[in-house]
Amino acid sequence: MSGGFEKPIPHIDDTSRPYWEAARRHELVLQKCQECGHFRYPAGENCPSCLSDRSEWVKASGRGKVYTWTVFHKVYHPAFINDAPYAVVAVELDEGPRMLTNLVDCKLEDIKVDMPVEVTFEDVTGEITLPKFRPSVK
Ligand code: ZN
Repeated sequence: MSGGFEKPIPHIDDTSRPYWEAARRHELVLQKCQECGHFRYPAGENCPSCLSDRSEWVKASGRGKVYTWTVFHKVYHPAFINDAPYAVVAVELDEGPRMLTNLVDCKLEDIKVDMPVEVTFEDVTGEITLPKFRPSVK
């Protein structure tokens, strides 16, 4: 592999592009259905609630809580060798959708269900910024 970021990076397509462009600006956005108001993540062409194809991108609060998590001790990709053990966390956003993400600035033993978290951003390449979460300071 060449130098720089060696972990797998997200595949960006036309549907998800606004999400990743916002992340690069350090903004978390969600698709909101213009028919029923349902927030969805990941991005999709139709609302999973009412099947409408009318949606808009709106800025999310960036706040949520830990829904569940797991700790990876086994390394499934060589680029993660210095990270293990690490937590993969499902964060339930205040708007409703759940995101699989990482928790930063938090010891593994301190992770708890329902703990309040807020988004933070990690610029990993010139193109990709990953939304991650940290314990909420408020
Ligand atoms: Zn809908």
